[in-house]
Amino acid sequence: MDLKSGYPFWAIKNGLMRTFPALDHNIVCDVAIIGGGITGALIADDLSSNGYAVAIIEQRDIGWGSTAASTALLQYEIDTHLTELAALYGEVDALKAYRACAEAITDLQTLAETVGDVDFEMQDSLYYASRRRDKQPLKDEFLLRQKHGFDVEWLEPDGIKKQYGFKSSGAILSKKAARIDPYRLTHKLLDRMQSSGHHVYDRTEIKNLKPSAEQVELTTTSGFKISCQSVVMATGYSSQKWLKQKVASNRSSYAFITDPIDPELLGELNRTMMWESARPYLYMRTTGDGRLLVGGEDDDIDISAKRDKRVDKKARTLANKVEKLFPKLPMNPTFSWAGTFAETEDGLPFFGPHKQYGERVQFAMAYGGNGITYSMIGAGLLRANIEQREHPLAELFSFSRLD
Ligand SMILES: Cc1cc2nc3c(=O)[nH]c(=O)nc-3n(C[C@H](O)[C@H](O)[C@H](O)COP(=O)(O)OP(=O)(O)OC[C@H]3O[C@@H](n4cnc5c(N)ncnc54)[C@H](O)[C@@H]3O)c2cc1C
Repeated sequence: MDLKSGYPFWAIKNGLMRTFPALDHNIVCDVAIIGGGITGALIADDLSSNGYAVAIIEQRDIGWGSTAASTALLQYEIDTHLTELAALYGEVDALKAYRACAEAITDLQTLAETVGDVDFEMQDSLYYASRRRDKQPLKDEFLLRQKHGFDVEWLEPDGIKKQYGFKSSGAILSKKAARIDPYRLTHKLLDRMQSSGHHVYDRTEIKNLKPSAEQVELTTTSGFKISCQSVVMATGYSSQKWLKQKVASNRSSYAFITDPIDPELLGELNRTMMWESARPYLYMRTTGDGRLLVGGEDDDIDISAKRDKRVDKKARTLANKVEKLFPKLPMNPTFSWAGTFAETEDGLPFFGPHKQYGERVQFAMAYGGNGITYSMIGAGLLRANIEQREHPLAELFSFSRLD
């Protein structure tokens, strides 16, 4: 599956940080993780630091899937409002999901500090009303979050204009969000894992998986076998092809990055990421070297040939939208790209076994706008599943939602 188009910034900036060997013999391990993106890396890191012999198998180069295309805003704010999630699953479960996402940001901060040099920074997040009619739903969302102790502030038009310089009828300012270079984090985690004796293979594709009562056997396209107790399918947006049941829809999402911009001109954008209430939403955040990274303009369906052709035009449209909000910012899309982006109907991910394969095969489908935050939660959740322990989100994030 072709996951991206154009020139994703992280891959250009960092290049191939490291290559790993292809698998050329049969191996045995506790847990085999298929997919060497940010999800596979976070899960592998958690399992390997908790005593499991782990092997990670990637068909491309490490981080070269949608991880390289991610704009990597780390938010506890799920694309589905807390109010909507509460209406769907009840306030208790909705809060569990939101709170776990907030904790995941702290966990990612700790991890980023441990590995170092991954362009991590804590930020504020401004969620503004795109249209006047969006003000009330946003205000309701603010009130519910405030009631449950989230560190949020409500901004009226005057405050938005004064602090951020653009017009909107209302906005929620959240004090907990962060930005990161997800490609760098993936490489650093897997490099650390390899150095401590675990196995990382790239250029190795799994074509078959056979679970039995005692183990799972994986076969690569070159015919080598991996025997393990459990498998984690961290295969990103191509995971759907392993399942007969349709669990998500693929879209195309677009992004561009500017040259470094004078911090004076960036103003509050230096420490605040922004997104809006319209769907698909326009969003933006800065990088450590002062660039503005902008995304949005999603297509409803993902056709890679169409996506390839649309990258420049979509980047221009995104740049025009930013210019309208911030006319003084120089908008030069230095690198533009697009990626496949999958969404579930309720905005929640799927982590856990699917009845098609049984308990030994754990899926890690971190779908939706805060996929990376979900992957951090998923790491602990899947280890709990493997150890047959309870996890507060195991049920809500499981495929049983579809039954
Ligand atoms: C444009 C864009 C913007 C985004 N913005 C954000 C954001 O702001 N915040 C956020 O949290 N998330 C964001 N996301 C989502 C986030 O990027 C994803 O959640 C994340 O990249 C998923 O990582 P992954 O490891 O699951 O998938 P991937 O990075 O795609 O990794 C899966 C890997 O599995 C490998 N693979 C698949 N099949 C096989 C096989 N059979 N054998 C071996 N290997 C296999 C693939 O080659 C791939 O490298 C964005 C995504 C896109 C595209």
